[in-house]
Amino acid sequence: MINPASRTKLIELSQIRKMFEATKPGAINLGIGEPDFDVPQNIKEAMKKSIDNNETHYTPNKGDLDLREEIVKKFKNDNGIKTNPENVIVTVGASEALFASTQAFVEPGDEVLLPNPSFLLYEAVINLSGGKIVPVDCKMENEFKLKADDVAEKITDKTKAIILNSPSNPTGAVMDKEDIKAIADLSMDKNFLIISDEIYEKIIYDKKHYSAAKYSDNVITINGFSKTYAMTGLRVGYLTANDEHTEEIFKIHQNSIACANSTAQRGAYEALTGPQDEVNNMVAEFKNRRDLIVKRLNEMGYETVNTEGAFYVFPKIEDEDFVKKAADAGVVTVNGAAFGSNGQGHVRMSYANSYENIEKAMDILEERVVNG
Ligand code: PLP
Repeated sequence: MINPASRTKLIELSQIRKMFEATKPGAINLGIGEPDFDVPQNIKEAMKKSIDNNETHYTPNKGDLDLREEIVKKFKNDNGIKTNPENVIVTVGASEALFASTQAFVEPGDEVLLPNPSFLLYEAVINLSGGKIVPVDCKMENEFKLKADDVAEKITDKTKAIILNSPSNPTGAVMDKEDIKAIADLSMDKNFLIISDEIYEKIIYDKKHYSAAKYSDNVITINGFSKTYAMTGLRVGYLTANDEHTEEIFKIHQNSIACANSTAQRGAYEALTGPQDEVNNMVAEFKNRRDLIVKRLNEMGYETVNTEGAFYVFPKIEDEDFVKKAADAGVVTVNGAAFGSNGQGHVRMSYANSYENIEKAMDILEERVVNG
């Protein structure tokens, strides 16, 4: 084999994916990170129409202008972020936005603060940029929320960036406004970048979402259509940042991606401008399932914290063999340690599965794993 670049040697292929590949047929999958709903019909129609209209050419590198204009409106109305179409880039999912942002700003010697536990892709994109990961504890006693005081303690003169993710994958935690604001203030005082992954923004219960970019100019705000509109496979995300920051990220985007998929961009435009009922119904259904899974886990004696968003619960389960025993009994879950050392002793369960399947999965765990 030809010797690979040193940056790829730091990357381990996703353990979660490997586990799914090994899943027994018929197992109930609570490991999954995508909505089980289908793309709303109006979005499908818009994409079909765009193909018939031959809207299948390259789009502007930053994305279709009308889509970027709608994204600007969305940022203003939902997040209190003032931006303009020039400072919006439509990306190939939030994943590309994360990759392009870290490539544009992080280099060897830079420290990047990373919540522990957090989504696996963050570690990979920081490693690919050559940056050094500095974990910041999200403690169960704080309901896994990232706290500004814990962030402040880790800042050095090498701190280049922090990644925020609220609501969080894997814990479902939603950060408090005061912490977001305090970290935003720190980013201005200490001159570092906030990469704020807000992809689960709309999947939130009884709590309000706050964007760091409302309080600081040093923020790249990342969002996308995968979770809110169940458009995972269509691969559309977006970001906004100030003039100078956007330009640097654009250099990476333009020279790696050219533009996001044209048909999927027409779907994204419809998603933002069309009716939002299906989003509201989906979130209401997620809330019912959240209540069910939390109740059942608590009844089995597993402690959970207040999961206020996304579609994950992160119960404390100290039996190291739980994930294996559950898989053998036909329920797929993910070991919390996969998301960082603070995930040790926890299991991530996704409730992006039907109410009936979650009930069935909880019955199986109760009968065959807890009492088995
Ligand atoms: N950010 C978080 C926290 C996620 O959980 C995911 C997907 O699971 C992504 C980003 C990737 O989203 P996209 O499909 O837009 O690339």
